[in-house]
Amino acid sequence: MLESILQQLPPQTRLVAVSKTKPLAAILALYQKGQRIFGENRAQELAEKYEALPKDIEWHLIGHLQTNKVRYIAPFVACIHSVDSLKLLLEIDKQAQKNNRSIDCLLQFHIASEETKFGLDRAEAEAILLSAEFSQLRHIRITGVMGMATFTDNTAQVRREFKSLKAIFDHLKATFFANAPYFREISMGMSGDYQIAIAEGSTLVRIGTLLFGERG
Ligand SMILES: *Cc1c(COP(=O)(O)O)cnc(C)c1O
Repeated sequence: MLESILQQLPPQTRLVAVSKTKPLAAILALYQKGQRIFGENRAQELAEKYEALPKDIEWHLIGHLQTNKVRYIAPFVACIHSVDSLKLLLEIDKQAQKNNRSIDCLLQFHIASEETKFGLDRAEAEAILLSAEFSQLRHIRITGVMGMATFTDNTAQVRREFKSLKAIFDHLKATFFANAPYFREISMGMSGDYQIAIAEGSTLVRIGTLLFGERG
């Protein structure tokens, strides 16, 4: 399955293997096939797996993150996909500074029709990027955007939602990051919709079930 997914990815698109709830052995099996980017949705589980597994794995946090959990992952996490408030960004910056490093972050947008999904809207994101506090941060880098489409068989709707995330990315790029080549990531697409996401410009697909099987 890994090979067949990788074959479908355009050169600018990377695979985040979503290993949440999966045992170390399953992660190692994929590692041995060459996969190096793994994603988890809980900070403590991520920290435990980091401790136990090879240190050249690039770990991404993809799930909702509470400010009091940032310290568990700040020493090593490569990218946090789920930044949805200035408060969280300030804490990530503080913890990154403590560890003498910089952490890449994606702004998570609410693009689905479901009420429950986390994420910013465009106005909220702009308020963060224009704030005086944000301009002081030196230990985070906003490298792009992330979003989850509605869980539905309606592929037209999913495509529309991915297009809306791409439009947000383009707008932020032009308005705030025109001179920032590192602002280039659009994290969208999961097991059920990654092909649509790739067609709509995804640079990071987050795939769990297709690689590891159903979660219990
Ligand atoms: C679990 C999860 C995924 C992967 O979902 P699959 O359908 O198993 O591929 C992707 N993104 C986020 C944010 C997740 O929580």
